[in-house]
Amino acid sequence: MTSSNTLKANLMKTKTTKPKAAPLEKYQEKRNFDVTAEPKGARGRKSSSELLYVIQKHMASQLHYDFRLEWRGVLLSWAVPKGPSPDPSVKRLATAVEDHPVEYGGFEGVIPEGEYGGGTVMLWDRGTWTPESPDVDEALEKGDLKFTLEGKKLRGSWVLVRTKLGYGGSKKPQWLLIKHRDRYASTGDILVEKPRSVLTNRLLAAIARDEGGDVAKAAKGDPAKVAARA
Ligand code: MN
Repeated sequence: MTSSNTLKANLMKTKTTKPKAAPLEKYQEKRNFDVTAEPKGARGRKSSSELLYVIQKHMASQLHYDFRLEWRGVLLSWAVPKGPSPDPSVKRLATAVEDHPVEYGGFEGVIPEGEYGGGTVMLWDRGTWTPESPDVDEALEKGDLKFTLEGKKLRGSWVLVRTKLGYGGSKKPQWLLIKHRDRYASTGDILVEKPRSVLTNRLLAAIARDEGGDVAKAAKGDPAKVAARA
């Protein structure tokens, strides 16, 4: 294992690399900020030393979990259709999507129907992450990023591994999100056991109800047993 001092030194070293052009351009193109309450996102937000980690459960046309890691002032983002699994024998497909603003990590609510990603968004997990790969940019380039999560639901060591382009018929880069074996690994179904918001303790149906969304559609994303009690 790399010591935290070495990690910090490596992180500082990587910051001299030139960032990609026009961060958040794709994110902003897809959205009408007169209509949606999602944050517009400012460029060049200065990162604190702690890197944000967030998972948003998103009942859009399809239910998925948006996995986000703060890096270079934006949230690197992957859509995980089946959600994360703390079972190391389970690999979950994660489609790389456009970078999101760091403020997006605080968003929970309703995106109007007909807009991009229209539906209900829940802050399913939030915390910080620490790279285990010594050079994050190089790891992303190579398609093998190892990291530790310190969330309220997910903890311990994980990896994102890129598969061949076009895997599963998609043209977007496909990755696999996999738990490493450590004391936080488990075979339980965390998606069913912990279906509520870490911000407000609400289920998707309650968020939709409170924020003027489609309650019946949102409820389809809540586990059947819990939804019946809500
Ligand atoms: Mn989404």
